[in-house]
Amino acid sequence: MSDTSIAIVGAGIVGASAALALQRDGHRVTIMDRQEPCAGASFGNAGLIVNGSCAPTAMPGIVFDGLRMLGQPRSALSVRPAYFPKILPWLIRFVAESRRTRVAQNARHLHALTNRAVNAWKQLTDNTDLHRLIESNGWIKVYESERSFATTRNARALLDDNGTPYEILTATDIQDLEPQLAPIFARGIYQSDSLLLTNPDRMVRGMVDLLLQRGGTYKQFNAQSIEVESDSVKLLNADESMSFDKIVIAAGAWSKPFCQQLGDNVALDTERGYHLMLSTDSSALLTRPVMSGDSSFVLSPMEAGLRLTTQIEFAGLDAAPDYRRVRSLLPAARRMLPGIDKAETSVWMGCRPSLPDSLPVLGFASNTRKVLYAFGHQHLGITLGPVTGLIIADLVAGRDPGLDLGPYRADRF
Ligand SMILES: Cc1cc2nc3c(=O)[nH]c(=O)nc-3n(C[C@H](O)[C@H](O)[C@H](O)COP(=O)(O)OP(=O)(O)OC[C@H]3O[C@@H](n4cnc5c(N)ncnc54)[C@H](O)[C@@H]3O)c2cc1C
Repeated sequence: MSDTSIAIVGAGIVGASAALALQRDGHRVTIMDRQEPCAGASFGNAGLIVNGSCAPTAMPGIVFDGLRMLGQPRSALSVRPAYFPKILPWLIRFVAESRRTRVAQNARHLHALTNRAVNAWKQLTDNTDLHRLIESNGWIKVYESERSFATTRNARALLDDNGTPYEILTATDIQDLEPQLAPIFARGIYQSDSLLLTNPDRMVRGMVDLLLQRGGTYKQFNAQSIEVESDSVKLLNADESMSFDKIVIAAGAWSKPFCQQLGDNVALDTERGYHLMLSTDSSALLTRPVMSGDSSFVLSPMEAGLRLTTQIEFAGLDAAPDYRRVRSLLPAARRMLPGIDKAETSVWMGCRPSLPDSLPVLGFASNTRKVLYAFGHQHLGITLGPVTGLIIADLVAGRDPGLDLGPYRADRF
């Protein structure tokens, strides 16, 4: 065993993946969370691992699309008025990222990570029981008209440019793949090599259990500050202080204060998202996740029931959830999949950690090699958790991670 002690702040998918990858290299690993493992965005997502996904959120035409959506009461996009002044600088950068040249670059840098996703997940789960929580039936996006399908032209061009495979589906293909869907869809896009985590919470908790079985440590700790010393780095709160050789900040949407203390002002904010759970009978109606391209929600058949995920809400980390929009999508979901139950079993809100260019922050802090950053995975943290873990382990070991990490620097904005 190496005598390097490493603490990971944040036990979501990214922190748990980094912990296992670092432990495999022989380091003494402590993973910590202020709550239970998987208390953040990693709990309630759609579970998709989309190999080669590369369309950033800021796409050409986003200003027009955004304004149109903000005017619609049931659209998937919303900004809380009280949060608007705070998010404005982020939104200005986001709009700047929607220029065609920037979109092409951001897509290339996203693809450089996501095209490793399925392999990284295999590496992480092979020879463990965790692979039982992964299904490999791909996923489809469906569109009710040729007109709505045409809105995918830019995103498809990015997939083509980056060599991500997909198939275009006809109405008949869609019915063949998912016979329980209503016959209202004209076109679809099928990515057959995508995977589904059928229970992201069980996956992350299983990863932490594996870490413990292999000699690692879990500690419930609400880290409030970080201090770099000459031969160590400390995490502190009002009651306790702990020293390590290295620290990995993987606190998702809550990572920014740690970076600020280290002199890095990262452009991190949160795109909040929601889910609504329906029964396991409803889950049995689909064999793979299906996204409604017209109403911007995903139905994922999960172990605990059918999960409807949706929405980008700009409201910061602390505002109370507003479940009205996600509930208002139930009629659209029943129109799409007529067999589903009316009754929700639970609702949830989570904070996606997002930067304006849709790229994560990966690598050493600007002013010290004792701290590494691994956060900002926006809509793709489940896809990218294990990829990130392997990159962080390579950096700590001094190995070449096999890609240029410049685009993911903390100080790029
Ligand atoms: C509705 C929705 C659907 C999504 N669907 C998908 C999908 O299908 N596929 C996909 O790839 N991605 C998806 N995502 C995105 C994905 O869920 C996130 O990118 C990912 O979970 C982020 O993981 P993380 O480990 O960085 O952060 P988190 O899971 O948020 O974990 C951060 C952890 O840090 C802890 N923490 C925070 N502050 C401190 C502190 N001071 N001290 C100690 N611990 C702290 C928190 O308690 C939390 O447990 C979706 C997200 C949402 C909201």
